[in-house]
Amino acid sequence: MSVSQLARSIVESPTLRLNEEARLLRERGEPVIHLGIGEPKNKAPLNAILSTASKLVTGDVKYSPTDGLPSLKKAIIKYTEEHYDRLVAPENLIISSGAKQSIFNVLYSILNPQDEAIILAPYWVSYPEMVRMVYGVPVIVKPEDGTFTPRLEDIEKAVGPYTKALIVNSPNNPSGAVFPESFIAQVVEFCERRDIYLIMDDIYHTLVFDGVQAPPAYRFSKRDLESTKIIVINGIAKVYGMTGYRIGWAIAPRELVQIMTNIQAQTTSCTSSVLQAGAEGALLGLQSVVEALRLQIQNNRDVMMQELQSFTGVRIRKPEGTFYCLPDFRAYSNNSLELCRFLLEKALVVTVPGKEFGMEGHLRLSYSGTVKDVTEGLARMKWALDPTSANEIYIGDKKLVRDWL
Ligand code: PMP
Repeated sequence: MSVSQLARSIVESPTLRLNEEARLLRERGEPVIHLGIGEPKNKAPLNAILSTASKLVTGDVKYSPTDGLPSLKKAIIKYTEEHYDRLVAPENLIISSGAKQSIFNVLYSILNPQDEAIILAPYWVSYPEMVRMVYGVPVIVKPEDGTFTPRLEDIEKAVGPYTKALIVNSPNNPSGAVFPESFIAQVVEFCERRDIYLIMDDIYHTLVFDGVQAPPAYRFSKRDLESTKIIVINGIAKVYGMTGYRIGWAIAPRELVQIMTNIQAQTTSCTSSVLQAGAEGALLGLQSVVEALRLQIQNNRDVMMQELQSFTGVRIRKPEGTFYCLPDFRAYSNNSLELCRFLLEKALVVTVPGKEFGMEGHLRLSYSGTVKDVTEGLARMKWALDPTSANEIYIGDKKLVRDWL
């Protein structure tokens, strides 16, 4: 079939592919445990549901302004003032169909062909592909010391005449690391001095544990919103557990927002007005739902850490945020893709290969599901991998005997 070279070169989203594989296995009645998924199991907050429903029953479901419903913009401005201590104007804000579209719009707006965007490993799988989709060049920077915390000196070495942007995601998918305040301060200063856009993907910003906080980049910039290089990406998918609403936003200088608005106008026109109403309900409603979700996920994280410690040879850095961790499984295999396939086949557990995030030898495990998912998933993994574990296990009512170790 004749398709463009660029389109052909864009890889399938490994996480969405795994979701699909897990769904098909479940449909066949297989008791799959999904530790690959990136969404909590909560119901949408009640205020969001009511707000969605009341918009729908008006029957007035039309295009919204391309950059978003003014009332949702107002709610996001309030949210930004509370969480970032910055008062932004409606013209600094554009609402899109998920943070994913917001990031794509930003990259499309700022990169010329061959311009480079620096991406810090371990990274969210979509960044390099999105950069390539707009004919840019992803430049991956990996911490030399094997940690998940990037260092400015490594970034400095990767900067060249074509560097246009640096993408920072903290709390980080896939590692769960929250980058220290000193690092955020350094990159803000560096990007503003070198005239490089700093794209802060803050989608997990309040999903943090043990009193750790993800410092907002604005705190370290003396510039006003029109002259800063900081672009903030956020949304309701993760911290409200409203992934299916597909509402995200970008905050940037007005001129850039205007350009992104033109792009969005020519691609999706606008985001669904019903779902924008729902997002408004979530942002203005009871915020205790966010805290309840955070506490539940923190507890899941603790259970996952405890279970992982019982594996022989698995090295793990305790996540400080998100609902992921990225343990080093090289004691079992250096090929994370093969390891994932093995775990799915033998133990019916979905994991995501670290290779996809620039960290071969690691597995990304999600604890966004139930505690039972975490304990049972890890028990099955341990059975499949660790010779010190019992060689029989029950999966559903099927007794499985390990005969490969
Ligand atoms: N950024 C990161 C780091 C993510 O993990 C995700 C979702 N997996 C997104 C952005 C996209 O969020 P949304 O669902 O709002 O498009």
